[in-house]
Amino acid sequence: MSSFKDTKTELNKSISLSKPIIGNEEIEAVVSTLKSWIIVQWPQVLKLEENFCNLTRCKYAVAMNSWTAVIHWALYWLWIGPWDEVITPPFTFVASANPILMVWAKVVFADIEENTFLLDPVEVEKKITPRTKAILSVSLYWHPHHYLELKKIADKYNLKLIEDASQSIWASLWDMQSWSLWDAGTFSLYATKNIHCAEGWVLVTNNEEVYERAKMLRHHGQSEKTRYEYFDIWYNYRLTDIHASIANVQFSKIEYVSNKRRELAWLYNSELSWIKWLQIPILKNEDISHVYHQYTIKINEFCKINRDELMSSLKKKEIWCWVYYPKPLHLHPHFARLWYKDWDFPISESVSKQVLSLPVHPSLKNEDIILICNFIKECLQN
Ligand SMILES: *Cc1c(COP(=O)(O)O)cnc(C)c1O
Repeated sequence: MSSFKDTKTELNKSISLSKPIIGNEEIEAVVSTLKSWIIVQWPQVLKLEENFCNLTRCKYAVAMNSWTAVIHWALYWLWIGPWDEVITPPFTFVASANPILMVWAKVVFADIEENTFLLDPVEVEKKITPRTKAILSVSLYWHPHHYLELKKIADKYNLKLIEDASQSIWASLWDMQSWSLWDAGTFSLYATKNIHCAEGWVLVTNNEEVYERAKMLRHHGQSEKTRYEYFDIWYNYRLTDIHASIANVQFSKIEYVSNKRRELAWLYNSELSWIKWLQIPILKNEDISHVYHQYTIKINEFCKINRDELMSSLKKKEIWCWVYYPKPLHLHPHFARLWYKDWDFPISESVSKQVLSLPVHPSLKNEDIILICNFIKECLQN
């Protein structure tokens, strides 16, 4: 730890970027599921789905083992296939766009907004062709996507609207849970997400047909009502009761976790908002409650040091930060094959060189945030 002594900021521990909150309750829940001998999808998965219905006020919920599974299924159910086009942003996690290719449809990227990092409705409308079937929008970092604007476009051109709400659990909009407004919403329970069970996903919907098909397809195309009769070819996308029992305990923590993340974020805001080279997370309108899955700052071009230099200084002090996402999707080989090239999406590309996500998980203390902010200020002044 001696290497820390040469700076004004005294740090004597490493600060992790994210940390699953696993307490005794989660461990006991797993043990009791194991002892019950029902370890595959059954009562705990049913309870998890019920929890999600209550939380989102949606009629139906279906749990699966990954987001890719959920969205792969959703695109198939919507009969999206070869020759069809789906519009999505290039500035997101790859799992948002891969399933579009998995059903042999075309990924049509549309650029994002510079300040919220969300899919820009104006850009979406420019990309619509007679082949467009759906908009797959991502509620990134903390902010619900622009539902009203996108829904208007979807209705005008008769498109489906799907939300990747993996990062935005508990975000609210006009005092409603944001996702209760969507055609279909999907949530992640991956280990770094605000509530988690290692791997797992839930789809919520008010459409009974979506619900029945989802249940059938996650289980090799077999209806739950008629065992060993198959109605379609599909995969095994089941979630286990072992995972679901962890998620059910996590449910009781969702309000605490969201509030704690907000508190930490507000502290970051008060420490960093006055620095003119940094952009702190933006609230598009006053009615939105962010859930701060990430606390992401943007370092502008007038700053003395660039994003990569700031990141490496922080990492040297064992303050773990990361870039979500360092390379826009259209520049990866399997998307570039669709004739995308550098600077097709200038905002996504410049933002990907400027953003930096700082630690914001509930195990952090206020002092940790102050230490991080002081160190950032030192870096920017030197
Ligand atoms: C976490 C995350 C996913 C996860 O997808 P998996 O298939 O569960 O790995 C998808 N999209 C976004 C935006 C995410 O943050």
